[in-house]
Amino acid sequence: MAELLLPWYRRCGRHDLPWRKTQDDYALWLAEILLQQTQVRTALPYYGRLLAHFPRWQDLASAPLDAVLAQWSGLGYYARARNAHRAAQMVVRDHGGRFPKDRASAMALPGVGRSTAAAVLASAYGQDEAILDANARRVLFRTAGLVGEPRSAANDRRLWQLAAMETPRGTAHDYNQAIQDLGAIHCRSRRPDCPGCPLRPRCRAAARPELLNRYEQTHRSDRPQRYATLLLARDAAGRVLLHRRPEHGIWGGLWSLPILDASQILTDPDQRAQALERYASACGLRLKAQSLDPVRRHLFSHFQLEYAVLHAQLRAEVVADGDSGLVCQDIGSALGLGLPSPIRRLLEQLD
Ligand code: SF4
Repeated sequence: MAELLLPWYRRCGRHDLPWRKTQDDYALWLAEILLQQTQVRTALPYYGRLLAHFPRWQDLASAPLDAVLAQWSGLGYYARARNAHRAAQMVVRDHGGRFPKDRASAMALPGVGRSTAAAVLASAYGQDEAILDANARRVLFRTAGLVGEPRSAANDRRLWQLAAMETPRGTAHDYNQAIQDLGAIHCRSRRPDCPGCPLRPRCRAAARPELLNRYEQTHRSDRPQRYATLLLARDAAGRVLLHRRPEHGIWGGLWSLPILDASQILTDPDQRAQALERYASACGLRLKAQSLDPVRRHLFSHFQLEYAVLHAQLRAEVVADGDSGLVCQDIGSALGLGLPSPIRRLLEQLD
């Protein structure tokens, strides 16, 4: 595969990507973390922004988590931000401020799996490490004509064997980037462009449409629907009540509007009043319900959320303490916190 891929990569690869122009282990690791669950187009501005705010391992390690989450805000998968923060602290504390040079130590860093470790080791240190990110996985699955669930344990083992076998010695770095680019440009998840693909001569799936569609079919699923009612409570000075989400679960560690009901949109005024009363009494607040906004939608990776925002007047002083996870912030300060993107958009519209 390398013989077919590398000449194509030299001609058609995405050489302009900023992380392709550096050998800095920190910048390369950061790019790999961002690209784990995010498309290149979306990751690009975050890569620049995070590097500008935290240019070195030490800067990221010593930054408050809130400052990291604020720069990550809108990108989703916030466990990555928390893991990246902890990983930077470990790199500074245990590895002298350099990405570890052996696979086992690299994989001991939070958020660094086998493929991420391999990608950084190959690109930063020139090691012959094979990757198996989503693009490489799809290309290998199709070219080898595999069947069944791509993420099954048996296929996972087979794919890692193929990845190790196909990755050339001495040019693993270029090959890894080439297979990623091929997956993005030709071997796309939907409607792959086989006629223009350099791997076509040795691809089993290209000649057999039933194999070609298999990867897409096994991965496509309708996202289940969930519902929620959020609370937008403001005091007389216009400050807004925010709640820090638990570390695990959606929007983990970010500041959000309190979730008044995590299972339904409270369209019934009586139900709304009762839910608000329960919430106020649990948090020691005085709240008066106002209007309910129209339903909004937000797509998560595994489900679609339909939610409505209940406006309320906050009639008591909120004293920030670590236990309640509640703060009351003016809009400008709130926008400086790590907020989920729909909450950020909502607050931006307020003032
Ligand atoms: S020929 Fe088609 S299925 Fe095979 S690797 Fe290329 S784009 Fe993917």
